[in-house]
Amino acid sequence: MSLAALTVHEAAKLLAGGEISSVELTTAALERIEQLDARVKAYVTLTPELALEQARAADAARAGGEGAGQPLLGVPVALKDVLVTEGVRTTCSSRILESYVPVYDGTAVARLRSRGAVFLGKTNCDEFAMGSSTENSGFFPTHNPWDLDTVPGGSSGGSAAAVAADECIYSLGTDTGGSIRQPAALCGVTGIKPTYGRISRFGLVAFASSLDQIGPFTKDAEDAALVLNALCGRDVMDSTSVGRPVPDFAAALTGDLAGVRVGVPSEYFAAGLEPGVEAAVREALKVLERAGAVVDECSLPSTDYALDTYYIIAPAEASANLARFDGVRYGFSKEASDVWGEYNATREAGFGAEVKRRIILGTYVLSAGYYDAYYLKAQKVRTLIKQEFDAAFERFDVLVAPTSPSVAFRIGEKTNDPLAMYLSDVLTIPVNMAGLPGMSIPCGLSDGLPVGLQIIGRAFDEETVLRVGHCYQQQTDFHRQRPAL
Ligand code: GLN
Repeated sequence: MSLAALTVHEAAKLLAGGEISSVELTTAALERIEQLDARVKAYVTLTPELALEQARAADAARAGGEGAGQPLLGVPVALKDVLVTEGVRTTCSSRILESYVPVYDGTAVARLRSRGAVFLGKTNCDEFAMGSSTENSGFFPTHNPWDLDTVPGGSSGGSAAAVAADECIYSLGTDTGGSIRQPAALCGVTGIKPTYGRISRFGLVAFASSLDQIGPFTKDAEDAALVLNALCGRDVMDSTSVGRPVPDFAAALTGDLAGVRVGVPSEYFAAGLEPGVEAAVREALKVLERAGAVVDECSLPSTDYALDTYYIIAPAEASANLARFDGVRYGFSKEASDVWGEYNATREAGFGAEVKRRIILGTYVLSAGYYDAYYLKAQKVRTLIKQEFDAAFERFDVLVAPTSPSVAFRIGEKTNDPLAMYLSDVLTIPVNMAGLPGMSIPCGLSDGLPVGLQIIGRAFDEETVLRVGHCYQQQTDFHRQRPAL
């Protein structure tokens, strides 16, 4: 077994005990990438020299007595390429940012750096995080390590695939409408989107600002807790980051579920759900029950409207956010006879088809005469969705459901049918609309491909979400299964 198969908590223990060095661990991850990434294609940019330099610095810091209580020190991580990194190209998997090298780190990246993380590189994603399969990357699709002919999910497909293939120890992704949880489900890894406001988005290239959240992909829930400990908390550079105290998430992992009330929203088991996915999720509910949880049905009737609402609000915000890519400020530029011609030529050549579709949709729903009918109405529906969740959380501590209605689909299967692709997130998007924390953990295989179990919590109650996920992982070993690559 490669050292790169270790979890963060396993690696931290071996590093602290002096049994391995960060240079050894990093070298193992780089070797794995070397062996596999030509087939998986999880990475857009690799930074082996930086990684080894950070690994040597981590080893030196440990030798100097540092490291106690620093589980991320010297542990290799992969970063979704929408997170800006000082001195390292950040493309958003878009041609328009192909040669953009930021001069600063985003806050999440800076927090990892200051805790001694080792940066392996930047991972592929759907262009500007718009998609559910990573096929919308402006460069190349990423392949699911469980079956290279299938997609890894998206938009954070490279980050999910890198963890599944042991091409890193953990990774960061972003989730605007499911882009951490859905790829985590399809790749058989653990992924958590924290509550909106938990993690600063400063230095995250914005897609839909009222929805975007950063979160980790890990090999288990314990690692997710450790990474959240490092990432969460107020940041003056992002006014939406919340000043609440950040608990020690690892302390929430009690290993039991005594008295935890689990709601099962019936709308999440509607038509379109693959039977193999439903079977695995129902089986998982029994495991939770045996561990002491009290499981009961509930209803979230507005679920159906979440997707429609999302495809008004998210494109509206995207159309505004992406206005900055005009060829003047970020390097990629096409010549024309006047400035408007230059903007047009740059955006025509630099953006892919899905990004253009979102900009057109978003501009339309914000335009005079349509704003009230679409955007304003969507915001009202969004409030209703949130109120329904609030009511459910009066009865339940968490809600549990499938993450994705299907297992990984074949590359190319949905590329000509945007609506079919959008439906991939029908069970994850409501959580973003309400700003809640949601996690996906592996709960079995269907046709040999991983199934994700989604655990949704109250706002700012990641602790219970993690506790449920961790307890499930104490009872099962689906999270330890690895694809045969
Ligand atoms: N798949 C959804 C979309 O295409 C969600 C993407 C995301 O969460 N970044 O917009």
